[in-house]
Amino acid sequence: MTHVITAPCMAEKAGECVDVCPVDCILEGEDQFYIDPDLCIDCGACTAVCPVDAIFYEDDLLPEDMEFVDKAKKFFMEG
Ligand code: SF4
Repeated sequence: MTHVITAPCMAEKAGECVDVCPVDCILEGEDQFYIDPDLCIDCGACTAVCPVDAIFYEDDLLPEDMEFVDKAKKFFMEG
């Protein structure tokens, strides 16, 4: 499991999540920030500081946000 950053990040890109992640697994992409699903330890720290509530535990994602799981995987696969 992992945490996933969803659509609200694309308008905001606040970046507070990057500073609080204990395993440094959040990277900035062109259009949004991304969480590396292989490194995330599901601590929830990023969720608590996101000003636009864009970050969810994978199991809690709404159906329309499922696309962000694959989007993050693709981001880290392509480096
Ligand atoms: Fe990092 Fe924790 Fe957020 Fe995972 S849940 S991205 S480990 S701050």
